[in-house]
Amino acid sequence: MWPAPPLVRDTRLRFVLIVTLMSVTASVLITLALFWELTPHALYPAVAVPLLVAPVASGYCAHLYHRLKRLNAELAFASSHDLMTGLLQRGSFFKLAEDLPEGQDVTLVVLDIDHFKQVNDRFGHIAGDKVIIGVAEAIRAAAKDGIAARFGGEEFLILLPGGARSVAETIEDLRLRIAALDFTEPGLAVTISAGLSHTKGGADLDEALRQADAALYAAKEQGRNRLCVDTTGTRRTSVLQLVRG
Ligand code: GH3
Ligand code: MG
Ligand code: MG
Repeated sequence: MWPAPPLVRDTRLRFVLIVTLMSVTASVLITLALFWELTPHALYPAVAVPLLVAPVASGYCAHLYHRLKRLNAELAFASSHDLMTGLLQRGSFFKLAEDLPEGQDVTLVVLDIDHFKQVNDRFGHIAGDKVIIGVAEAIRAAAKDGIAARFGGEEFLILLPGGARSVAETIEDLRLRIAALDFTEPGLAVTISAGLSHTKGGADLDEALRQADAALYAAKEQGRNRLCVDTTGTRRTSVLQLVRG
C-alpha cells in the first residue's frame, strides 16, 4: 500500500506559524524600543504591526482550512464510492443497508451484465468501460429512492424500499432501458440479468444476498436478459409471472 498523501503540506502551516511569530516579535521589539526612548507614539507599532499581518495570516489560514475541508470531503467520497461509476462501493452499501430502520420492507437486487466478456473481446476494454458507466448511470436513475453500488466488475447491487412485486416492476423498467442504451459503437448493445430478494431492515443481509444471488443464477440459466425473484429462498419465480400475477 502507498502511504496516503498529506492533505495540506506541512510547510504551508509552518509558514503561517513563522509569519505570526515574526509579527508578534516585531511588535514586541518595536514597542519596547520606543518605550525605552519614551516616544509619545510608543504603542502605535504594537497595534499597527499585528493589524497589518493578522488579516493576511488569518486569510491564508482560512484558505487552508477550506482546502482541508474540501480534500476531506473528496477523500470521504473516494473511500466510499467506486471512482469509475460514482456508485457506492460494496462496503459502504452494506454499512448503509445495516442501518435501515428495523422491520422496513426492502428488496435487494443483484444485477449482472450479460456476456460482458464478449463485449470486451469484440469491442475492446475502453468500450467495455463505457458500457459499465452507462449501465451504472441507468441504475443510479432507477435507484433514486434507494441505494446502489458496484459490487465488482460488471455486477451491481441495488436496495430499494418496498416488496419484491413493486421493486420487480422498477427493475424490469431498468432492464428495458439498459437494453435500449446507445453506446455509439455500431452493433454494441447489452442486456442484464437480475436476482431479487425481499428482506426487512434488521434482518440477515447475508441471507438476502445468498437468495438474490441464487435468483440471479436462475435468471442466467433461464436464458439471461430477465429478472428472477426469490420469494421463499427455495422457489425462483420468473419476474414476468410475479409482475403479471
Ligand atoms: P455472464 O452472462 O454469465 O455474466 O457472462 P459474462 O461474460 O458477463 O461474465 P464473466 O464473469 O465471464 O466475465 C466478466 C468480464 O468482465 C470479465 C472481466 O474481464 C470483465 N470486467 C470486469 N471488470 C471490468 C472493468 O472494469 N472494465 C472492463 N472493460 N471489463 C471488466
Ligand atoms: Mg456478466
Ligand atoms: Mg458477473
